[in-house]
Amino acid sequence: MRFLKWVKEELGFNRNTRYQRTYLNETNIKTAVYMSFIVLLLELWMIFRYVYKRPGLTFPEYFDGETNYLIFFSTALVLLVFSIRYTGYLKNHVVGPVISIAVLLLDTAMIARYLYKNIGEQSGGALIFGIKYHIVLFVLALMYLLYERIYLVKNRKNDLYGQLLNVLFAVICLGFGIETSLYDISKARQILCFVTMIVFAACMLIWRPYVSMIFLGVTFYYFYWLWYPTLLELDAVNDGKVMEGDRINFFIFWIVMVMLSFSIYQQRRHEAAKDEELIEANKTLERVAVEDDLTGIHNIFYFNQETEKQLKDPQVDISKKIFLFLNVENFKTYNDQFGYQAGNEYLTALAHLICDAFPNDIVARQSDDHFAVFTDDDKIAEKTEIVRKHVKGNDSEVYLELKVGAYRPKDRDTDPRVAIDCARYACSLTKNKFGNNYMEYSEDVDSEFHKRQYIVNHIDRAVQNGYIKVFYQPVVWADTKELCGCEALARWDDPTYGFLSPGIFIPVLEEYRQIHKLDACIFEQVCRDMRESLDKGHDTLPVSLNFSRLDFELMDAVGLLEDLVRKYDIPKEYLHVEITESALTENMGVLEEAMKRIKADGFAMWLDDFGAGYSSFNVLKDFDFDVLKIDMTFLKGFEKNEKSPIILNAIIRLADSIGMLSLTEGVETEEAAEFLRKAGCGRLQGYLYGKPMPRDEMRAKIEDGSYKVSAKLI
Ligand code: C2E
Ligand code: CA
Ligand code: CA
Repeated sequence: MRFLKWVKEELGFNRNTRYQRTYLNETNIKTAVYMSFIVLLLELWMIFRYVYKRPGLTFPEYFDGETNYLIFFSTALVLLVFSIRYTGYLKNHVVGPVISIAVLLLDTAMIARYLYKNIGEQSGGALIFGIKYHIVLFVLALMYLLYERIYLVKNRKNDLYGQLLNVLFAVICLGFGIETSLYDISKARQILCFVTMIVFAACMLIWRPYVSMIFLGVTFYYFYWLWYPTLLELDAVNDGKVMEGDRINFFIFWIVMVMLSFSIYQQRRHEAAKDEELIEANKTLERVAVEDDLTGIHNIFYFNQETEKQLKDPQVDISKKIFLFLNVENFKTYNDQFGYQAGNEYLTALAHLICDAFPNDIVARQSDDHFAVFTDDDKIAEKTEIVRKHVKGNDSEVYLELKVGAYRPKDRDTDPRVAIDCARYACSLTKNKFGNNYMEYSEDVDSEFHKRQYIVNHIDRAVQNGYIKVFYQPVVWADTKELCGCEALARWDDPTYGFLSPGIFIPVLEEYRQIHKLDACIFEQVCRDMRESLDKGHDTLPVSLNFSRLDFELMDAVGLLEDLVRKYDIPKEYLHVEITESALTENMGVLEEAMKRIKADGFAMWLDDFGAGYSSFNVLKDFDFDVLKIDMTFLKGFEKNEKSPIILNAIIRLADSIGMLSLTEGVETEEAAEFLRKAGCGRLQGYLYGKPMPRDEMRAKIEDGSYKVSAKLI
């Protein structure tokens, strides 16, 4: 069975893929380039040789004598032009038709001449037989002309049609080979012309092996049949020694040709199969390279590539174009609540919805719940509204909102990466702002953006050159109003940018994961100041230090604190660790361990900004804080909002009942201070008692009696 299968395959009865078929046909046409070129040169040489050897003839005599060469030459010329046009070596659309029309005219002239000479002398059938090669040439030139008009003009190809042209060429080759060889035989010469032409034809027509076998068989047999009478004659005068030898050789020659066709065919088929595999693999790679794994829509790599192309395209009016950055606000909570699987499904559905909402635009997923769109600036509101409806329309209790940032490209050289970064930044400005869901990058935003870039790029230099300074804000006992401590707050006094507010640089440094550099610098300054103060025998106040959640991820924050305490020999009670409430809501990671270590080391832990965000009382239950810092938002509009005093009262009582001390921030009025004292809040901090100030100013105020340091500090 396997043997049969093998035979079937070797003979070419197997199925080829479309690619293999095209490949085989196309390689035949490529081979035709070489073959026709050789024939062309050969015939040119023959034409010149004819003239050279027969000087002094008249033009009609030359014309008649050269007819066969001219036919063969023209055939080769047409095929050469066709094959180099087909393979794309020649791009010119005019050369081909001009040549084929010239050939048609020449052929017509030759036919006319033949008929003129032989009409009346030959029967109709004989006349037609006499111009059989003229007819083939005519058909060939005409077919090529049509091919130019039908396919090549439209940059299309038809490889089967090409095969037909090859066949016509081969017919003329073989006819020429057979006739010349028969003539040669009659002059006792070799059959070399037939040999050459059959090799030409076989190489140009590599088809399924069984077809090649039949085609070669028929041709060989036909030639043999014509040759046979001559062989018989030769045999008769040579004691029967010619026929047998020539027959065997001729038969072997046929087998060799068949084998050659087989082997070339199989080789090309394998090449095609390999090519096809490679092309498939490449296609997959190309697709994967531009596809987002999770959602299946395009990825940002594709986005950058395609938008760059559009920006550079002079046909695209970029004054109407805009980059959008889409972000689903609060998506993390959705993920936490429903798990990653549901989150992923949500994102996939959303991705396809965005693609549908922006059908003819470039859409990609950038990362997480962030999408990038390159679109026209009209109807943005309508389109984003479709997406927003979907975002808000989820049935869960999680409140999701679609935030959009936009950026208009300035010129054709705009880098899509930068454009999306700007749109993203504009989008970030709408964060946590209810009802503010769209922001376009403007000049104001631009200067803000540059400020941010400046911060990220200059934090190292600022730390090294001492532009980062510590300010201290007093904290007082609510009852005596005497100083019981202070909070260390960072200030950035930059020589080129001037004063930068922590409200700006802290979030930026956190976003770019550089905050630990600033905090390490502040902690060290605080410890150094404290050592100096202790050495000088001044009244020294405990200082609370602000720790960012990222400090614990980006450095060994607790280790640093331990080292500093050792290095400057600071009593541990003099340092408080402030951790903001919002740091504790998301998954805790290293933070939990760090907090345990802080407690074990003997530092007091303060819970900062309580009530600023989505407060969770679990934080109070789960972690062991010493002091609760009530956020200043409760005191905003304290006089007007009736609920504020009630809530403050409740929080203070709650803190007290679980053994925590309380401190309220942002105390600006005597009324608030008085209320808090009565409510039982232990410590107060706010502008009423002083803004954050340099160490020396604080020292001076203590010395001139403006501040009184309490005897009780902890
Ligand atoms: P925070 O820790 O809540 O610090 C209190 C902020 O409230 C300070 O702003 C302070 O100047 C301000 N403040 C104090 N009393 C009043 C008042 O009566 N009324 C008003 N309206 N504001 C008052 P600042 O210094 O601008 O710091 C802002 C935030 O930056 C801080 O909030 C803190 O989260 C962060 N931060 C400051 N310094 C550092 C630091 O060294 N490291 C880290 N990680 N964060 C810091
Ligand atoms: Ca703080
Ligand atoms: Ca605070």
